[in-house]
Amino acid sequence: MIRLFFTEIAEIAMGNWFAKLLKRRKSTADLTAEGSLSDLLPFNMEDENDLISTDRLHVVRQFRDNVEGQLKIIQLALQANSVVLYWSAFTSDQLVPYSFLSSSSTFDIKSIPAATGILGALKRQSEISLFPCHAESPAIPYYRKNPDRGSFFAKVVACSAAGQHAQGDFGVLCVDRHSDEDWTQNEKLLIETAAERIISYLLLSRDLLFTDVERRTLQLVFNGLQGLNSALALDSVYSAAEKALEQIVEADYFAVSLLEGDSHKLCYVTGDFSEGYINKTFSLDDSLVGQVVKYRRALPENSTRSLLAPVVNGLKLFDTCQSVLVVPLLQEDGPVTGVLIIASRKQKKISRSCREMMIVIASQVAIKIELARSHHQIQQMTITDPLTGIANRRAFQRGFSAMSDRARRRDGSFCLIICDIDFFKLVNDTHGHSFGDVVIQRVSSLLNEIVRAGDLAARIGGEEFAVLLEDTGLEGAFDVAERLRKKVESLGLFFEGKAVPITISLGVAAFPHDSDNQEKLFSYADQALYHAKETGRNRSVCWSKRT
Ligand code: GH3
Ligand code: MG
Ligand code: MG
Repeated sequence: MIRLFFTEIAEIAMGNWFAKLLKRRKSTADLTAEGSLSDLLPFNMEDENDLISTDRLHVVRQFRDNVEGQLKIIQLALQANSVVLYWSAFTSDQLVPYSFLSSSSTFDIKSIPAATGILGALKRQSEISLFPCHAESPAIPYYRKNPDRGSFFAKVVACSAAGQHAQGDFGVLCVDRHSDEDWTQNEKLLIETAAERIISYLLLSRDLLFTDVERRTLQLVFNGLQGLNSALALDSVYSAAEKALEQIVEADYFAVSLLEGDSHKLCYVTGDFSEGYINKTFSLDDSLVGQVVKYRRALPENSTRSLLAPVVNGLKLFDTCQSVLVVPLLQEDGPVTGVLIIASRKQKKISRSCREMMIVIASQVAIKIELARSHHQIQQMTITDPLTGIANRRAFQRGFSAMSDRARRRDGSFCLIICDIDFFKLVNDTHGHSFGDVVIQRVSSLLNEIVRAGDLAARIGGEEFAVLLEDTGLEGAFDVAERLRKKVESLGLFFEGKAVPITISLGVAAFPHDSDNQEKLFSYADQALYHAKETGRNRSVCWSKRT
């Protein structure tokens, strides 16, 4: 007691270093250097540590300082040798030293099992006092060997009801002193008051940090949704969804799969080795995706990949991942239209708030996908001909203007072919309108087969078609026209067992060879076609070479 008193005076009078030398004082600071937030937190924030701003480190340090202040009061008031606050560890049944002060030379602080030893009794009772305490008494956990004499007191410091302690939710405050007398009511009251203080600091800091997490969560969701809002086409919806989720989860894989009957099609997938799987279809059976579609909710519950069922049936892509979450794409009571898949090779990468954010984002993605699909459908309807599925007159006009502009800008060339089925009125009159329709469809298919990517084949009238060939000169275009003519000639169509010969006539005009004016070029191609009709049909005629 005298030595302790003297060292405290010394500390005040002569400065910290000398006092430390005198009493060989040990404290928390000796053990833990400035740690990261998760090292310093005495309570379990689940996996939300990533969401806490590092600016908040000072709150946690303040908490730690406050706790140490309480231990100091106990040490001074009760002339204690050591005061230790253990906290329950997050991952095991361990008690981990969180804060401590000691003036003993045999002080040896480390983590201890919570269920055994003298502190094991605290599973059933809220405090333990031991007196007199000597070398043969039950071991005080933070000494290499018990002091020869003294008394020991330990008290549970818990945020939850007795016996209901969750991991990270309770601690044990231990005090021992040289005197071997029993602890008086007043002394116990002092320790209890300190314990209550510690709990109130703890709850306060925890509330603050959880508020931080919530605020940050909302911010991330908001940022993610903003990107999604501006996405119109399907592909941009997928990439906006990926960007939105990137802000929330550090993922190695991201995929969007849409339902198609009893299967699902990977419409978008990113991550190592994922390229070959785009637009591949997989069965819903025996897979996590199938379960998510069936139960209409995000799975697995703990976001940890199960070894029992593959994420996607027949796809090993996610096998290297420890964290996985599959979220259904659905709108309230509407049907599930697909799933979002997010996966990380690391463990515990998808926290509870990540999961909630993903569900919110998925509901928006579902709406966006539906809108993008109908947008696409409407667009297609306005540019495709319903009978043949190839471009209509309107799309042809747009394509024609775009190609002319491009050719003008780059000094390029292109050709226009206009073709018309010969004596088609007769075909209709003889075999009926439906058969006529089939002929139109077959000719369109041939047209579509023959054009390259970047070229355009369109139905511009009843049995009239146009083909735009980019970067093609007159000779090349004439070859294409002739190839097309021959293909149609050898179509080999039959009506009620009788062969129906079908032929077409074609007119070709070249930009800029014949004209660099769009209207004139069309008129020239038309004139060439007329010439082909006039000179016998089943022919290709170039405007500049008509005789
Ligand atoms: P030509 O060799 O001079 O072109 O003779 P033609 O009989 O083909 O003459 P025309 O171009 O005047 O006839 C076109 C016919 O195509 C008239 C019309 O009934 C028919 N037609 C137009 N659109 C359709 C369609 O969507 N389906 C069917 N079956 N017939 C159509
Ligand atoms: Mg005709
Ligand atoms: Mg015609």
